[in-house]
Amino acid sequence: MGHKYPAEKPRGYAQLEVDARGVRRALGFDLTGKLPGLKIFESLGNYSVSLRGAQIQLSYAVEELEPGIEAEARFERDCGEIVVCLTPLTYEQLEQDYPRSRFSVFHEIGHAVLHPAELIGLSRKPRDQAALQRVSYGHLLPYQDAEWQANTFAASLAMPALGLEQLLRERRLQVSEVMHSFCVSQQSAEIRIKTFLARKDTLCR
Ligand SMILES: [Zn+2]
Repeated sequence: MGHKYPAEKPRGYAQLEVDARGVRRALGFDLTGKLPGLKIFESLGNYSVSLRGAQIQLSYAVEELEPGIEAEARFERDCGEIVVCLTPLTYEQLEQDYPRSRFSVFHEIGHAVLHPAELIGLSRKPRDQAALQRVSYGHLLPYQDAEWQANTFAASLAMPALGLEQLLRERRLQVSEVMHSFCVSQQSAEIRIKTFLARKDTLCR
């Protein structure tokens, strides 16, 4: 998903922080440090999401996607799984810790974890039709938009509030330090630091 799209549930910063922390915990990663991109991607098979009483298994794949798309999450009707898919190039760049590829993967993990119902809905429609329906969603508030949710989730997954709090305590909460510690772009670090400082009490709870 790449455009505004209404999420079934509204989710704000605090909820998305909890969601991202839950994924780290469920997959056995620490709650404060840099997430190993390739390792989390390849451990997605150990995660399932619950939807209306049913468990939906996640999985991962590497394959060519439509031009311009680096990564996607989709519901596979054949196996009933949500697959997070990367192009071979994105996979290679993830292996080399490119911040952009890391962010793409975390964004798609966000869709997989947060939006199973939406992905199932999209899987029932032809692609062009699903795209057409996006046109009228300009009125969405950020926390209702699946794309905003996935981006915010990705930032929380990459730069957990508990990790930023540690840097703050050590007086090291600077853009360059965050870029280096969590392997993120300058822009991601800047936005995240602002978000964090404005709500650190709720985010660290
Ligand atoms: Zn998306």
